[in-house]
Amino acid sequence: MADVSMGGEVETFAFQAEINQLLSLIINTFYSNKEIFLRELISNSSDALDKIRFEGLTDKSKLEAQPELFIRIVPDKANKTLSIVDSGIGMTKADLVNNLGTIARSGTKEFMEALQAGADVSMIGQFGVGFYSAYLVAERVVVTSKHNDDEQYIWESQAGGSFTVTRDVSGEPLGRGTKITLFMKEDQMEYLEERRIKDLVKKHSEFISYPIYLWTEKTTEKEVSDDEEEEEKKKEEEGDIEEVEEDKDKDKKKKKKVKEVSHEWTLINKQKPIWMRKPEEITKEEYASFYKSLTNDWEDYLAVKHFSVEGQLEFKAILFVPRRAPFDLFDTRKKPNNIKLYVRRVFIMDNCEELIPEYLGFVKGVVDSDDLPLNISREMLQQNKILKVIRKNLVKKCIEMFNEIAENKEDYAKFYEAFSKNIKLGIHEDSQNRTKLADLLRYHSTKSGDEMTSLKDYVTRMKEGQKDIYYITGETKKAVENSPFLERLKKKGYEVLFMVDAIDEYAVGQLKEYDGKKLVSATKEGLKLEETEEEKKKKEEKKAAFENLCKVIKEILGDRVEKVVVSERVVDSPCVLVTGEYGWSANMERIMKAQALRDSSMSSYMSSKKTMEINPDNAIMEELRKRAEADKNDKSVKDLVLLIYETALLTSGFTLDDPNTFASRIHRMLKLGLNIDEDLSPELDSDMPPLEEDTIQEESKMEEVD
Ligand code: ADP
Repeated sequence: MADVSMGGEVETFAFQAEINQLLSLIINTFYSNKEIFLRELISNSSDALDKIRFEGLTDKSKLEAQPELFIRIVPDKANKTLSIVDSGIGMTKADLVNNLGTIARSGTKEFMEALQAGADVSMIGQFGVGFYSAYLVAERVVVTSKHNDDEQYIWESQAGGSFTVTRDVSGEPLGRGTKITLFMKEDQMEYLEERRIKDLVKKHSEFISYPIYLWTEKTTEKEVSDDEEEEEKKKEEEGDIEEVEEDKDKDKKKKKKVKEVSHEWTLINKQKPIWMRKPEEITKEEYASFYKSLTNDWEDYLAVKHFSVEGQLEFKAILFVPRRAPFDLFDTRKKPNNIKLYVRRVFIMDNCEELIPEYLGFVKGVVDSDDLPLNISREMLQQNKILKVIRKNLVKKCIEMFNEIAENKEDYAKFYEAFSKNIKLGIHEDSQNRTKLADLLRYHSTKSGDEMTSLKDYVTRMKEGQKDIYYITGETKKAVENSPFLERLKKKGYEVLFMVDAIDEYAVGQLKEYDGKKLVSATKEGLKLEETEEEKKKKEEKKAAFENLCKVIKEILGDRVEKVVVSERVVDSPCVLVTGEYGWSANMERIMKAQALRDSSMSSYMSSKKTMEINPDNAIMEELRKRAEADKNDKSVKDLVLLIYETALLTSGFTLDDPNTFASRIHRMLKLGLNIDEDLSPELDSDMPPLEEDTIQEESKMEEVD
């Protein structure tokens, strides 16, 4: 649809479906916290100013159209509008169409879900859809914008499914920047009051680093004599002066007192950057308010670190840890980190990858360097030595800050719940800080009860003669705490850590040791426990006695297992399946199978070469040993070995590739136990696969790890 008015062609666009839904939600739901709209719009202006200032650093001509950088707020009671004007980068026609309506941010849907789950509307900025908060207070929004690369355009919408974009041929030229005019809803006139606007800016936008001016009304009283009156009358008609009082008592030489209303720009924010001040002089409230303006977070921060580095290289920084993880913590499409880089008070960028490693991407803050050149380019940043030093310092300070959080149990629990994955990712990736990061790890263990333990505390509890730190990986705490792999370790009184986060597999794979003690998996080969001479002798005897059974089992299981040996780690269960010390654990195999896009070439050599360890003290094994001795081809031995193997897959943390065959085998055993004659129960029989040879073939196909 196109129609022509004011000389420009009006083009109508439909809002993208999710944005449209969001708008309805904003308009039709009652929110008490509408005031945040102003913070969001000012924050957008500030971002736009940052962008043009950055461009201006390398190309001065970009600033020419409007050299002054500012934000202006204009309340207009007569027209019931509130305008926010900035001299930022502005938007081209395409920007207006894309950014304000047709391309939904990933946060759009997430924000609606959060709202429906009871989140506060003030969270909107976190989800990257802050602009639409304008509709909390306005029934119609008009955005006029001028970008250096395009003409001035007008975007306009009353929500309701569509918006229009028109070339602005007759409006007042902005030079460069954006003017957002809100046509306020009837019940939102409070936001046109100077007092209210000033308070809001103080509350939410105090740390904006550009001047925010408010168009304020000033009234002065003035006496005018008769002859002046004529002129004033004229002005009065034009609406500038209001008559207050006529002094009739005075003599005929008439004099009048009139109220003169004038307007002026009043600066309503301080702009001295908080990081330039001394930490001792900054109150907790000031940090809190700075944090909120920096991050749009609606909650307070969990921890803050404000420091400066002096000497050969100088910079100041404030770092914050939020109270919870953002909705897109590991989303690779979002910006790499949350640190804003300044050079001598001038904002440079907020997406400098080299500033802090990815695993610390959740830390928010500012860094202001005295040494970097102002006109630094992205390419230069990549090899910049100064930046490398800054990065190193930031990591160090972050770890210090985490350790400070750890001094308070409750806070640390919150921190760990939100960011333990980041710490573990750090252990995986940051070899230089691996040891320090390991101190921050916490795990449940066989001895920790409801609390979690640090590796440091684990070490203090180690038994005499215990050389290694033991751990078991698995899907859940429940799945690992009664695992057969722990039997012998528990009996010896050795504590075992439960690592039940998928990323633990990766982290522990890199960590390898802590405090000079090897980290040993309870489910892999290479678990050597201390033993007495007597125990050793007994073990050798058992080994000899079960040698034959081991051979028989290996023959029956074929390629399913690498080898069959007598176990040192099981006490009660008949057997377990362990994996190679350097290959994947059962848990890792599960994780890798679950990764849709993994590279399958890895699996063939990493996936677990299983060793079956049998327990010579187990009655079932003893019975099998006897039967196998008597007749190597005993049919029942074959059946039982397969069943035991499949059961061990389950108890050892693997998945069954073919649960049906397993179930059938169990059913067959049940029938034996219940003395049901197979011939007499054909209906039960029908869903049973043939056992032994036929199934073996079928299964080995299933067992193949793709
Ligand atoms: P966010 O600011 O979190 O990206 P918004 O919904 O608030 O999300 O804004 C969407 C986009 O519209 C911004 O990313 C920006 O590109 C553009 N925009 C909004 N306000 C302005 C402005 N005052 N000047 C220039 N561009 C703006």
